[in-house]
Amino acid sequence: MTDYPALHGPSRPGWRCIACDAPWPCPTRKHQLRELCQGNLPALVRYLSAYLSDAQQEISDATTADLTDRFLGWCARPPDPTAVQEHPPTQQLKTVAPAATQTPPEGRTT
Ligand SMILES: [Zn+2]
Repeated sequence: MTDYPALHGPSRPGWRCIACDAPWPCPTRKHQLRELCQGNLPALVRYLSAYLSDAQQEISDATTADLTDRFLGWCARPPDPTAVQEHPPTQQLKTVAPAATQTPPEGRTT
């Protein structure tokens, strides 16, 4: 798996996104992870389980159930349609109007 150069990574021990300050994993990071794992749910869960393990030791004001849902619960859910795209949308495709059929001037009457 390749990774994104600009990560929405966790700040620790607060476990908020270093890029957008949302609770980590933030919607953008979730979107990125989904893309990275390409539907490989076990790989995604394995990856996040390592973070969950660390978070359980560093976040004291959340229950294990809450943390498990926060880190792993979203994996099997449908993607969040409000997730922010990291990259700006590519240039909008310009609708190219079919070139008007021009009849070349021919057969000038002289
Ligand atoms: Zn973020």
